This record gives sequence, C-alpha cells and structure tokens, in this order.
Amino acid sequence: MKLFLNLTLTLSLTLFLFSCTKDEKPINLTIARNEVKQYYESGKYDEELNKVIADAKKKFNEVKFKENTVVIFDIDETALNNYGLAEQMDFGYVYELNKQWNAELKAPAISQVKELYEFLLSKGSKIIFLTGRNFYEYEVTYQNLVKEGYTVFDTLITQIGDETKMKAKDFKSGKRIWLTKQGYDIAGTVGDQWSDLEGYYHGIQVKIPNYLYLIED
Ligand SMILES: [Mg+2]
Repeated sequence: MKLFLNLTLTLSLTLFLFSCTKDEKPINLTIARNEVKQYYESGKYDEELNKVIADAKKKFNEVKFKENTVVIFDIDETALNNYGLAEQMDFGYVYELNKQWNAELKAPAISQVKELYEFLLSKGSKIIFLTGRNFYEYEVTYQNLVKEGYTVFDTLITQIGDETKMKAKDFKSGKRIWLTKQGYDIAGTVGDQWSDLEGYYHGIQVKIPNYLYLIED
C-alpha cells in the first residue's frame, strides 16, 4: 500500500500552508498524533462512522436496483481497517511492516462498512472493489477481503503497469468510465478519500472518515 507514502509530504505541506495563511504556529506532531489516537480509540470515530452509514442506507433506499446496478468500494480504510498497522508504524510509514501486514491478511473489516455492503447485496446491488493497491498485492488483497467476509463481488481492480503513476482520482474515475462502458450502472461510491469519490460516474458518494492520512490527488 503506497497510501502512507504521501503522509509526510502532505502533512508538511498542510502545516506549511496553515502557518502561511493563518500566521500561526503549527500544532506539535505529538499532540496531533495523540488527538487522532484519542479520536479513534474513544469511540468518536465509530460514532461518526455510524452516522455516515445510516445516512448512506437512507440514500441507497431510494435507488431502484437493476441487474446491472453496482456500488464501488475502496479497500484501505474503507472495506478494511489498517489502524493496527498505523499504530505499529507509530503513525509513520515503514515499507516492510506494511508489506508484511498485507501479506499476513491482518486487516479486519470495518464492521459498519461491511454492514452497508451486506445491505446493498440484499437490495440486489452488485459490488466492485477498486483500489490503489498494486497488482502484485492482488492475491493477498483478494484473500483478505474474503477472510473478512466480503465474499460476494463481481471483481477486484488494482493498479497495474503505468496506472501506478496515475493520480488516484484519474485512475478511479477512468475505471468507472470503463465499467460504465461495460454496461454497469454505478449507483454509488464508498471511500475514505475524496479521490475515491470524485470524477465521473460516482453516483451517491459515501465518505468514510479517515484522520490517518490524506491522498490529495
Ligand atoms: Mg482508502
């Protein structure tokens, strides 16, 4: 998962811009990290997530699902939860730990997202997983999804070749154009980054909270 690669740069840039525009000193990194930990571990993250999923269900309840209706799910911090990995890496990025975590299928499902997935299946929706993970992790990603109960889906799409150089939003939006040309009617997108949700053919946008990292493009 290359998601954490952008963390340091993004954080530095954000802090730099913050200090420029507001003429204030940046927040101390230890304090910022503790605030994020507190948010996740005190139940506030779950509370926010419960609201997001309840709202999403209301919106999808209005949809008339047809045979070709699909909802697109992102994987990391959407279907699967890497908070344990983030903790192991002390909220930085350690390539080997990340690789090992994925290879050992360590990521649990995010239960609220899994609930939405099951709700959509019960409504007759098809499901497709679309991730920025690289093709070399296809097999372990597939296995991790199945292990966590995501057993019914049409396909899993990872990045391959030059796609790994694309901006996340362009990659995901491009795949949705392609899926639409294949005959799918995309009713919604579920993801923790706006780059999962913006662009063409996104349908209902379900923004899963993520305070661990930001993928800006
Ligand atoms: Mg994600």
